[in-house]
Amino acid sequence: MGLKIADHWFERKTIDDAITLLWEPYVDPLIRCNIWHVRGRDFDLMIDTGLGIASLAEAAKDLLDKPVKAVATHTHYDHVGGHYEFQECIVHKLEEAALRNEDKSNFAGLTKDTIDPYVAEKIEASGYKLKDVLVTAIPKRGFNLEDYELKGVQNKITTVEAGDVIDLGDRQFEVLHLPGHSPGSIG
Ligand SMILES: [Zn+2]
Repeated sequence: MGLKIADHWFERKTIDDAITLLWEPYVDPLIRCNIWHVRGRDFDLMIDTGLGIASLAEAAKDLLDKPVKAVATHTHYDHVGGHYEFQECIVHKLEEAALRNEDKSNFAGLTKDTIDPYVAEKIEASGYKLKDVLVTAIPKRGFNLEDYELKGVQNKITTVEAGDVIDLGDRQFEVLHLPGHSPGSIG
């Protein structure tokens, strides 16, 4: 199978002075998340981090001039793959263990056959035709799709729950608990 080697893994759009949207263009929309970098006075947030196939910290290096806390909207693998790179992570208390990757239940891979058959069936029933391979490029020569794995977070994790406020000094976010898609989904 001849997947091309990407010369960059992330693309970005500057929303304003403080907000940048990043994404992984060669990842199937099914597992491509929005990655938001938000500048703050005291620290920055990186809200979701993608699959962790390539280094987000490296790709966003020019944006990162102060401490960064990586927020997990939830801990499915397509949202938290790069969290291990950041000094501190923020997650709902119900998904702390998942962010440590202590259970592997949130994990699938880059090919259709790694997705739980029950989940795959539900995805297809909703009208989405699952492709056999969920990327259209690889990040570097010799990268094997089967070798991809989710790295658990070893760094500091701060847990949050409904009503907590994340205060960047000049911008405040109130945590909304939005269970459904996963038990600890937050907005
Ligand atoms: Zn999800």
